[in-house]
Amino acid sequence: MIDMLFTNARLADGSLTDIGVSAGRITAIEPAGSASAGADVVDLGGALVVPGFVEGHIHLDTSFYGDRWIPHKPCTNGFDVHERVAFQARNMAQAAPMAERARNQLDLCIGNGSTAMRSHVMVDGSVGLKSLETILQVREDYRALIDIQLVAFPQSGILTSPGTPELLDEAIELGADLVGGLDPGSFDRDVDGHLDVVFGVAERHGVDIDIHLHDAGTLGLFTIQEICARTKALGMAGRVAVSHAYGLGDLAPDAAKKAADLIAASGVSIMTNAPGNHNFPPVALLRAAGVTVFSGSDNIRDSWWPYGDGDMLGRAMMIGYRSGFYTDDELTAAFDIITRAGADALRLEGYGIKVGARADFVTLKAEHVPEAVVAVPRQRSVYKGGKLVARGGAVS
Ligand SMILES: [Zn+2]
Repeated sequence: MIDMLFTNARLADGSLTDIGVSAGRITAIEPAGSASAGADVVDLGGALVVPGFVEGHIHLDTSFYGDRWIPHKPCTNGFDVHERVAFQARNMAQAAPMAERARNQLDLCIGNGSTAMRSHVMVDGSVGLKSLETILQVREDYRALIDIQLVAFPQSGILTSPGTPELLDEAIELGADLVGGLDPGSFDRDVDGHLDVVFGVAERHGVDIDIHLHDAGTLGLFTIQEICARTKALGMAGRVAVSHAYGLGDLAPDAAKKAADLIAASGVSIMTNAPGNHNFPPVALLRAAGVTVFSGSDNIRDSWWPYGDGDMLGRAMMIGYRSGFYTDDELTAAFDIITRAGADALRLEGYGIKVGARADFVTLKAEHVPEAVVAVPRQRSVYKGGKLVARGGAVS
């Protein structure tokens, strides 16, 4: 029955076990030494075994990772999404082919332990469906290594970029899994008009939603309230995400608590990558209210910022560091954001280290999860469906 037997696997609760895998799924978890040998035995030597990391927000089409270095150009008068989009268009015109750059980034993420990913891909009047067509092909090539969800992302706005509403429909028909959005208030200057299109596409095609929202303070909060109202009205709880939601980090504690309760009751999840010097959502407060908080690398070596290493374990450390997480429970929460909560937000089937789940896991040289979050051990092996896909950072 068992194709592979992984012996001496340390689970998060400290127990030493043998894990049986058959047809890509975990079929047995038994105390170490008690499982009958399978066709192939891999001795994990007491390594910590955790579920594959969930890279919940990345941009496979716009990174220059692996390409030549492109110096960051600051905005002329403070951060401006329009100006950054213009810089990006200029940079992309002189970059290596998109498929090559996307592969570089995928190898980086898989090497670090991600087994599932959600990538936004530009779909708008400026690039049409070209980027999506390229990334769909790359996804096909990587099917055995990582599960990838693609979001049709209107980087140049929806109402201000002619043809974009129709392109979003076409993107879903072509193979995108979700519909995205971008700062409905500050970019398109029409929250209702923008959300009409986004939720309209979602309703017509039965797809989930993931909206970029950089807007600060009151405008950010107002937009989140509108997204929550529509999510509830359409019965889309658990199927809508707001990425960044910086505005939640600008609120006084009582207002943040009220917002968190609304977000939790609406079933909207929040993605944060604990970015640079920005205010960012109060992770502990949101989780305490019952909000699903997940994470992603977002931009890696692109026109938005030069940082990023595709390591979700390092991202958990950064979230914990910036959130002031010190206790074991808090460090475990940071880890939950890049694993179980990410799987919830992406609605992944068969996730986790349990019988019946898909055998997507990472082995770490750490005693337990809190230590892994602070130490970010480099020595790891990555398994997808029970097959080794990366070791020591390199895809095999
Ligand atoms: Zn993004």
